[in-house]
Amino acid sequence: MALKLHSHIERVLWDQHQISRRVSELASQISADFGGAANSDSPPPPPPVLVGVATGAFLFLADLVRNIDLPISVDFVRADSYGSGTISAGAPKLSLDLKVDVKGKHVILVEDIVDTGRTLSCLIAHLESKGASSVSVCAFLDKPTRRKVHFQPLGQGKFYKGFECPDYFVVGYGMDFAELYRNLPYVGVLKPECYK
Ligand code: 5GP
Ligand code: MG
Ligand code: MG
Repeated sequence: MALKLHSHIERVLWDQHQISRRVSELASQISADFGGAANSDSPPPPPPVLVGVATGAFLFLADLVRNIDLPISVDFVRADSYGSGTISAGAPKLSLDLKVDVKGKHVILVEDIVDTGRTLSCLIAHLESKGASSVSVCAFLDKPTRRKVHFQPLGQGKFYKGFECPDYFVVGYGMDFAELYRNLPYVGVLKPECYK
């Protein structure tokens, strides 16, 4: 296997420019939806909490929050279901919990990619049990053809998605194969020999 990172990639699906344009669109939508009504006499809503799902969402979360024009909190959870392979290992387990108290707050779960839907449905239930008043989902990629578990945002929550992803195992922009390739600034598909 060649040592240079970019030589491992067979095909780029979304490049840096496409990603940054779409991320700022998502951030504008979130800013508009959570900003409260202008000129309203009612008190402003409590700042939303953006919860990144570690590790895959770290770049998406970082880019998203820098484009959101509202006071917000940021936190992380970790849910492990994948081993080092490309097939989900079943029911996810929460292995890192929140630091921020989300009771009575609007939460936006920030995910790299939704595949079977198991991770998100488990995390939404967890945030509901912690008393979040709504849970939205903001996923950079969605693979709807692979869905096994139907999840629903909680309360007034919405489902924001960056792009629909064809049924490939993708890497980059935070997403890994065997903990590698997260630092690619684009999303791509590996050369077959790299999955071995
Ligand atoms: P789900 O619980 O929806 O099946 O899986 C969600 C998690 O599986 C994602 O957050 C991501 O970490 C991982 N995953 C699903 N599809 C892909 C993929 O194509 N590439 C990578 N790198 N990870 C994936
Ligand atoms: Mg993830
Ligand atoms: Mg992974």
